[in-house]
Amino acid sequence: MASKYIDLSTVKFFMNNVQELETVLEKERFVDHDLESVNLYVDSVKQFADRELFPYFKEMDENPAHYKDGSIHVHQQVEKMMKEGGSMGLIAAPFNYEDGGLQLPLLAHTAANYILDAANNHLPGYSGLTSGAAELIVEFASKDLKEKYTPKMLTGEWGGTMCLTEPQAGSSLSDIVTKATPTDDGQYKISGQKIFISGGDHQYADNIVHLLLARIEGAPAGTKGISLFVVPKMRLKEDGELLFNDVTTVADFQKMGQKGYCTTHLSFGDKDDCQGYLVGEENNGLNYMFLMMNGARIAVGRGASAIACGAYYASLEYANERPQGRKLSSDGTKNLKDKQSLIIEHPDVRRMLLLQKSMVEGSMNLIFKAAKYYDLQHNSADDKEKNKYHTLLEMIIPVVKTYPSEAGIYSINNGLQVLGGYGFCSDFILQQYYRDIRISSIYEGTTGIQSQDLLGRKMMLNNGEGAKLLLEEIKKTIEKADQDDELKEWASSLNNQLDQSQKILFHLMPFAIKGDYERFLADASIFMEFFSLIIVGWSWLEIGVATKHALSISNSTLDSKFYQGKLDALEYFYVYELPKTKGLAEILLHPSSVTIKKKDKVIN
Ligand SMILES: Cc1cc2nc3c(=O)[nH]c(=O)nc-3n(C[C@H](O)[C@H](O)[C@H](O)COP(=O)(O)OP(=O)(O)OC[C@H]3O[C@@H](n4cnc5c(N)ncnc54)[C@H](O)[C@@H]3O)c2cc1C
Repeated sequence: MASKYIDLSTVKFFMNNVQELETVLEKERFVDHDLESVNLYVDSVKQFADRELFPYFKEMDENPAHYKDGSIHVHQQVEKMMKEGGSMGLIAAPFNYEDGGLQLPLLAHTAANYILDAANNHLPGYSGLTSGAAELIVEFASKDLKEKYTPKMLTGEWGGTMCLTEPQAGSSLSDIVTKATPTDDGQYKISGQKIFISGGDHQYADNIVHLLLARIEGAPAGTKGISLFVVPKMRLKEDGELLFNDVTTVADFQKMGQKGYCTTHLSFGDKDDCQGYLVGEENNGLNYMFLMMNGARIAVGRGASAIACGAYYASLEYANERPQGRKLSSDGTKNLKDKQSLIIEHPDVRRMLLLQKSMVEGSMNLIFKAAKYYDLQHNSADDKEKNKYHTLLEMIIPVVKTYPSEAGIYSINNGLQVLGGYGFCSDFILQQYYRDIRISSIYEGTTGIQSQDLLGRKMMLNNGEGAKLLLEEIKKTIEKADQDDELKEWASSLNNQLDQSQKILFHLMPFAIKGDYERFLADASIFMEFFSLIIVGWSWLEIGVATKHALSISNSTLDSKFYQGKLDALEYFYVYELPKTKGLAEILLHPSSVTIKKKDKVIN
């Protein structure tokens, strides 16, 4: 195992300086917190991760969650994560005091969870999903449901899940068939199967509270007929006693990665005794879920970036220790009398390391930015400001989920390559990171689905006003960077790419206007790749501006090394990554429609 999985100074620099946590803390709701207290909280989370998460990372992969005798068995650290983590506020942190929370900004909670994810991505999902499920109850369910179910979820005694997927309904939730039948006492009986449910059952929770999508008998077809229910594994009787609610665990899916994080198949109502409690109004379930989705998508992007972060430090450590080959002399030969070089001295290895650093840190800052937008949206007093940050978050969210997932896989692939043959061997940790990250581009909306959301919905948001607002924000950073001699060149590159994106949208929009949506969206994933490079380029430029400012007021050599590392990774991104937009633009502007199914086209 490597000894380092994250750089705390980077987390704090992005949170405090680049995203300017102080501007969030100025909001009324955070009056009890200041920079010092939030940073102390982040320190304590790092200590918890060092002690309770990172040492078990490999062990959890080697001892997967599994189904035995009707229930799921998970690693003992799940209990630590839920109960000790719960008592530290790791589940409840962003909730209001009145609901048992700490009223911490999502930006701080995101930074803390990034550390946990980087330390051991098999664990934070248990607390994260519980937090998400409790949030749905707090926001939309009755006072009674809230009082009965959320307190023990927020302390980590009970778990929570999101039950959406069914065997025939994955990406397309309109095909959900789980049934809710009204009963005489005003409740519903639930019957159906849910698959791939993360954290769906385990021996360390007395109860698991499922937030489940189902169709009330007679509801309209499609997404307009889906309702949301609280369906606990154990229902609470009036006297407070727990009674089995006919939720049966059928199996645990065995996976290529994230093996310590159970993925269950659940059956509801096999004995016709599963009660569900409606959340909010009938047939409005998907809307409630959608309101929570931005948080869930930030969490998946965060997890992916953090896994790639752990992999980066493992490969960096290896490159600093592994002697192999010799530096080329000026005549292109190698002097065998020289000692072997460490591989970190070879430009190709440095390229692979810079590639990782630029993807990991560029996405970390982007994720923090999304969390900050969330905070500003939810805590601004002024409606115009609320609206602004809501729109900005909506615009970037598909990228926040997708870029860290897709680029993260690529990044870890390069990390594995740094280890040569050892990268392929189970004794070395890179292969585990490579397997663990792979799920990120699948769950919480596949890359294909996120890309359709980006091009098909977000680019059209408010008749293009959303895209205009985002463009204005990016231009503000470009203007700041343009004042600096070293950043000027990158500012101009990013500006050119913005022009290119306009050209691409002008080329694609007419297909949508004509009603040819299949052609319009056929290359949505390519557009996602293109647009992600621009958004992460923006993230890096923002880091560049904050770095140059920090350098101008710092005189320590230690600091200057840290900041130089940021400027080098920025340069790498602009020289090696951003230009990839040119090839992607060529694809997007090409008239070919080879991927569209037509009578004379076959894939064989
Ligand atoms: C480990 C794990 C944990 C999970 N956790 C949960 C959980 O906690 N709760 C939960 O409810 N679900 C969970 N899921 C389910 C997950 O969200 C789904 O697997 C995902 O949404 C994709 O659905 P699917 O597997 O049915 O694939 P499909 O929907 O069949 O997709 C297959 C492929 O077709 C593409 N595709 C599908 N439809 C379209 C379209 N209209 N246009 C273009 N391309 C399309 C997809 O992009 C994908 O590449 C989990 C899954 C896994 C593997």
